[in-house]
Amino acid sequence: MNVETVKTWLDLFTDEVNQNKEYLSELDTPIGDGDHGMNMARGTTAVKEVIAEKNPTTLVDIFKLTGMTLVSKVGGASGPLYGSAFISMAKAAGETDDLGELLAAGLAGIQKRGKAEVGEKTMVDVWQPVVEAVQKNELTSKVIQDAVEGTKEIKATKGRASYLGDRSIGHIDPGAMSSGYLFEAMLKAGVF
Ligand code: ADP
Ligand code: MG
Ligand code: MG
Repeated sequence: MNVETVKTWLDLFTDEVNQNKEYLSELDTPIGDGDHGMNMARGTTAVKEVIAEKNPTTLVDIFKLTGMTLVSKVGGASGPLYGSAFISMAKAAGETDDLGELLAAGLAGIQKRGKAEVGEKTMVDVWQPVVEAVQKNELTSKVIQDAVEGTKEIKATKGRASYLGDRSIGHIDPGAMSSGYLFEAMLKAGVF
């Protein structure tokens, strides 16, 4: 992995989020407040701009810049969570450039901030299986899609969707879907 492929990854993620921002907000409507698409579109677009402007040259710098920008621009619950993921990845990138280790650090950052475990209908339900698959060298698009789809059947116990109790069942979690875009973009960019 190098800075150029990470740049491609983040640009593809931004494009994917922007192309699907209405859908992401639609997912957030029955089980949340309908803003996840706008939040992520605003944040990822800012990431793309700031990377073009500052032109980071190390993995530490590109992940740090991404994390700080997501925290300040996404807002909501997901901004600090995605922000923590990338800031934790920046810290880990000082020690390793192994993708599995970096993503595991990102997941740990999300969990440290949000305290969610697998099975609570959040982005963790996508990050966790993706980290495991990367570590086993088995990540495919199907692994990602199954994890995203799998959130449909879960009853939310974290985040806004948890206010709905059983009525949260039957809907894909919006943050799981945007994380799905993140990892699809990672595959497309050839980071994995
Ligand atoms: P808000 O709920 O503040 O409007 P967003 O709509 O942008 O924020 O993001 C909602 C997403 O954040 C959820 O779909 C879920 O994936 C994620 N999320 C919420 N709380 C947590 C948590 N404690 N841990 C992990 N992810 C969470
Ligand atoms: Mg929302
Ligand atoms: Mg909101």
